[in-house]
Parts: sequence; structure tokens; C-alpha cells
Amino acid sequence: MTLRNNQILRLESEEFEVLIIGGGINGSVAAAALSARGIKTALIDRKDFGGETSQSSSNLIWGGIKYLEGLEFGLVRQLCRSRNQLIRAYPSSVREIRFFTNLEKGFRFPALMIYLGTFLYWLMGICFTHPPRLLSRSKIDREEPVISTSNSIGGVEYSDAYLVEHDSRFVFQFIRRALTEECAAVNYIESQGSELKEDGHWITQVRDTQTGKEWSIRSRVVINACGPFVDRQNEISRQKGKHRHIFSKGIHLVVPRLTEIERVLTFFADDGRLFFAIPMGNRTVIGTTDNRVKDPETEVTKEDRQFVLDNINKRVKLKHPLEEKDIFAERWGVRPLVLETGQVDQNSDWTKLSRKHAIDVDTEKRHISIYGGKLTDCLNIGEELCAELSRMGITLPDPKKRWFGEPEPEKRLDFLNQAQKLGLNVPFHPNAYDTQAECLWRRYGEEAFELLEMIHHDSSLTAPIFPEAENLLCEMNLIAEQEMPVCLADLLRRRTRLSLLFHHDFLKNSEPLKKAASIVFGNQTEKNWEEYFS
Ligand SMILES: Cc1cc2nc3c(=O)[nH]c(=O)nc-3n(C[C@H](O)[C@H](O)[C@H](O)COP(=O)(O)OP(=O)(O)OC[C@H]3O[C@@H](n4cnc5c(N)ncnc54)[C@H](O)[C@@H]3O)c2cc1C
Repeated sequence: MTLRNNQILRLESEEFEVLIIGGGINGSVAAAALSARGIKTALIDRKDFGGETSQSSSNLIWGGIKYLEGLEFGLVRQLCRSRNQLIRAYPSSVREIRFFTNLEKGFRFPALMIYLGTFLYWLMGICFTHPPRLLSRSKIDREEPVISTSNSIGGVEYSDAYLVEHDSRFVFQFIRRALTEECAAVNYIESQGSELKEDGHWITQVRDTQTGKEWSIRSRVVINACGPFVDRQNEISRQKGKHRHIFSKGIHLVVPRLTEIERVLTFFADDGRLFFAIPMGNRTVIGTTDNRVKDPETEVTKEDRQFVLDNINKRVKLKHPLEEKDIFAERWGVRPLVLETGQVDQNSDWTKLSRKHAIDVDTEKRHISIYGGKLTDCLNIGEELCAELSRMGITLPDPKKRWFGEPEPEKRLDFLNQAQKLGLNVPFHPNAYDTQAECLWRRYGEEAFELLEMIHHDSSLTAPIFPEAENLLCEMNLIAEQEMPVCLADLLRRRTRLSLLFHHDFLKNSEPLKKAASIVFGNQTEKNWEEYFS
């Protein structure tokens, strides 16, 4: 029986202390934290884990430097602390990176003032990263020739961190952790609303979106972690909260790599907002936008695309300006921003809204809703939820157990040594930062030892799934067995990032990819292929 079917059986037959609705970053950390601390937990998502907002971010783990301008010192301090904690806990996945920033004539602050701001930011991050540098225009020319300095007044370089792999893969680490702690977690299961019964238990009506099967799940507590859909979920469950969401759309374009050095190029776009060129493997991700939208369901418009292309083309020197045909993939989503229920929604001032998360707790009904949040803040959310459950009178059998972080460094070393003997100490492509072995460790943690076992039995599994790919054939076996991929998008966009790094048509015409997909989907490959590429 597949892992997913097994998990569904549990959802059908067992009763849970906590049911989490939504498997983005917030729901996933909740599942990892609560199940590790001994609470019998279930998690459902109507799409794939990390398949909504948590696959649309800028992949930055950052202390929120831009919030200094709004004097939100408390938020910046908290985000810096969270960033440092994530760098420490996930040394392979969350890595410090330099932000190489060019400032242009007419910018609202002089370069020296921005430098002082980055210095304050560094101090607020308890000097955990490398210190900032003030850059003259000639230094920028020398160190990063791709930046157009014709209008430059110099710049600064400071540090934050980024997700070396990608956001939804990071989310899956928490799902994996939750699964190993006996959480029942299943993707493609939709909640149709929860009702509090007289016996004090919640009954949540659910539907398997793959088979149409419906049933109900009984739990003592419900956590609504539906991201931008929290309000809708509360509405169908007739649950009133102290907060609500408004939405800001952000898009990114994935284009050929702009600079060889692993760093973020930072600019201020025409609208005065921070604008980034962020490395992702051998590509660069550029963006983002920040436009108020009414609904959480969005798409990339021609104007969004043009805004990003125009802004990058004005600020870098390339042989040919970037055009639509250079775009490998697009990412888009809405930032769920938090308002108090009675707060007037002032359109004019909405970009200044705080990006803090809020957790609404209805102690009497034992219902929790998570509003807003950031990938960067995820560990705090996990801890806060544990504390809220305790306050509700729910005993955490193992209240101090650590629920996050990579395995001990000795295990990593052991893995890297064994992997080296199998020839995995080479990079996937010439300018890659890490070896194949390091990539496997980052993606699968201790599960990566199973890959070595597979390779011992069949050395052909060390081949990449197609020559330019950054995934090995052996990974397909592990993903199939342990990561619940249901459709091709799960495999290409979230378990791997192939659909971000390669053109749709390139993938569509790749026979080796189809062969690799057949390891995951067996006799369902043709159907999945058709659905994804038609
Ligand atoms: C453009 C952009 C850039 C960003 N950049 C950064 C960044 O660089 N760093 C950072 O820290 N943060 C960033 N963020 C913020 C961050 O990505 C989000 O705050 C975070 O991903 C939200 O996670 P979530 O779990 O609340 O929501 P989601 O990831 O949306 O998860 C909610 C889940 O609930 C599920 N769901 C909804 N309804 C139901 C239902 N009825 N039944 C079952 N499941 C349901 C959805 O399918 C979804 O998977 C960015 C956001 C955007 C949009």
C-alpha cells in the first residue's frame, strides 16, 4: 500500500487531538511541532504540501531590513532572531548570502544613510552575519560588472539568508518530520468545514480531491492554517476571529543566471520598492511586485511581466535585454496581510501594513486560526502553537522535545564520506556551489542514506534523470516511496524544482524525464504526463 493510502486509512479510522487544515509553511511547522511534542495530530491540504503561497516566495530568510524604514524595530529584531536560528538549525538549507545593492541618483536616502541602516540591521541581528560594506560606484563596477552604474551613487553590501533549494522543498522537511513523529499528513484532502458537536469534539467534513470520496475527521482541536484562505475556511465553519486578511500579489520570473557569484543583486525598482535578482541553481529569480488584489486566486499578467523585465533591464548590462522568451518559469502568489476585524482597510496606506503574523485562539471552542506569517518566522509559529495548546489545557507529553533542525553534523559527515566513495562528490553543473552529495543531504536529510543503499545495489541510479538535470535517478525511488507525489506538478515543481529551471517545452519533449517520471508514477505516467503537458 502506498504511503498516501496508508495515511488516508488513518484519517478515516482514527480520532485526533488536533486537526490542522492547510499544509503550507504554517500548517507544516504546526504538524512537526505538535506531533514531536506528543500530540496526536493530523494534517490535510486540498492541494499539495507547500503548493500555494509557500511555493511563491522570494526564497529569502531575512530579518526584514525594509521594515526599518517603517521603524518596526520589534518586528526586525524578531525576524533577525528567527533568521539566525534557521541558519543555525538548517546549515545545508538556509545559508547566509550577500545582498549587493546599487543605489541610483534621486533615491530617497543618501548611500551613507543606507549604509548606517544596514549597520544598525547587522547590530540588531547580533552581528551574526558578516558585517555590511559601503560600496563606491567604482567598486561596484569592479566587483559586479553586470550592474549598470551609469546612474549610480554607490551602494552597500549586507547579509541575510536564502533557501538554497526552494521554499516548498523546505516546507516538505517539516511534513517529513511530522510523518516520522506519527502525524497523519495527507495532500489533496479538502476540508469542507468544521462543526463543533455537543460532546465538545470538532467534526470536519473532508473530501479526497483525487477520488471524490467524502468522510469526516473527529478532533478535539482544529487549527486553521489555510494561508490566504483562512477567512473562507472560518466562514464555512461559522468561526469568527479577531483578524482578517487582505492580499498583495507578488510575482517572480526565472531567467538565465545573471551573475556567476552566489549573491543577491539588490535594486530599488521604479516604484521605490526593493527589487531582487536571486540565485536559484544555475538560474536567477527576479522580482517582485507588490500589488493590492481582491482575491487570493491570481495569475501573472502581461503588465506584471513587463514591470519586472523593464526594471531589471534598466539596472543590469546584458548583451541583449531580457525578453519574454528568456523566461524559464514564473512564480506568483499573494501575501496574506493581517488586519484586525474592525480595522478600516485604508487602500492608500496598505503597503505600510505590518507583516507580523497573528494567531487567533478561541479557547472555549478549541479553535485556532493563523493569519499572515513568513517562512522566516516559521519556528516561532510552531512554538507559539505549542504554548497556545498548553494554555487550552491540552497536555504536551514531551514539552521540551526539539522538533526542527537538521541531523547532527557527525551524521552529515558520515553521509558525505560514504557518498564520496560512490563518486557523488562532484557538482551537478560546473558553476554549482555544492556537490551532488551535499544536495542530497540538504534535500533528504537522514533519508539520504537510503539513496546510498539503492546505489550500492544498482550503480546506474547515480545518473542524472536527464543530462542537464540536478536530480539523480535514485531520488525518484525515494520520492515515490516517501513523499506522496500525486501528480507531475508535485514532482516537477515541489519535490524537485525542474519546472522552475527548464522551459515547459523542453521538459515536455524530454524522453529521459518521462522515463524517470515512470519510476514515480508507474502505469499512471501517461495519464499524469497528458494532464500536465496538455
Ligand atoms: C511574492 C511573495 C514573496 C514572499 N517572499 C517571502 C520571503 O522571501 N521570505 C519569507 O519569509 N516569506 C515570504 N513570503 C511570505 C510567505 O511565502 C507566506 O507568508 C507563507 O508562505 C504563507 O504560508 P501559509 O502556510 O500561511 O499559507 P500557504 O502556503 O498558502 O498554505 C495554506 C495551505 O492551505 C491549503 N488550504 C486552503 N484551503 C483549504 C481547505 N479548504 N482544505 C484543505 N487545505 C486548504 C492550501 O492549499 C495551502 O497549501 C512571500 C510571499 C509572497 C506571496
